[in-house]
Amino acid sequence: MRPTNPKWILLAVVLLATPLWARERTGELAPPEVKKEQDAIMKALETGNKHHMNNVSRKTGLARIMVVSCADSRVPPEVVFHMQPGELFTTRAFGNIVDKELLASLEYGAEHLNARVLVIMGHTNCSALKEAIEEHNHPRTEWRSLNQRALNQQLEPAVAEVEEDQRIARARTGKMLEGEAFLDAVVRTNILSTMHAIREQSPLLWNLENNDMIKIVACIYHLDTGKVEWLKQ
Ligand SMILES: [Zn+2]
Repeated sequence: MRPTNPKWILLAVVLLATPLWARERTGELAPPEVKKEQDAIMKALETGNKHHMNNVSRKTGLARIMVVSCADSRVPPEVVFHMQPGELFTTRAFGNIVDKELLASLEYGAEHLNARVLVIMGHTNCSALKEAIEEHNHPRTEWRSLNQRALNQQLEPAVAEVEEDQRIARARTGKMLEGEAFLDAVVRTNILSTMHAIREQSPLLWNLENNDMIKIVACIYHLDTGKVEWLKQ
């Protein structure tokens, strides 16, 4: 067998390594406090996990409840509904949206866990929708991240819908919602939009709901009181 030419080996190594050196650092490097903060967080996570190991729930069985909620740290569904690990099957994204992958997760829960109730939960004072309102009022010309633009494209219709409703209301009554009341209306509209998206984009879930195999409900969590308010569809 002919020995491999060392030149080709060198070229292969250079080509394989290219992504590593081509991907340069951009922006300013983090100050030293950030490293300290990260170390403290890792310690807190490890300590927290040790506590958890002492109290771990060994509950078996299938989660009969699925929840779609916002990624906001103040609205963990297990805490809000006072449930234990193993009881809720959750998907969380900023602004409680669903996409294809999250829908696939819900479909898995419905088919394999036999989930009987699917809860769509938004919450008051949602930062994702505040951002969407800001973007609607002052559209940016350039996005730093295409992922963020895609998220905004999902949230924006709720803002546009409420604005249109308010335009009609003002024409009729001379009054319209502003500030927090406007945000609250957008949050509610967005929760129902997610509900409609699930029905429209997942024939599997829609069929299960139509056959009464799964109940799909919507709610808003009030950050100030902890109350879950169930929404009429
Ligand atoms: Zn939120």
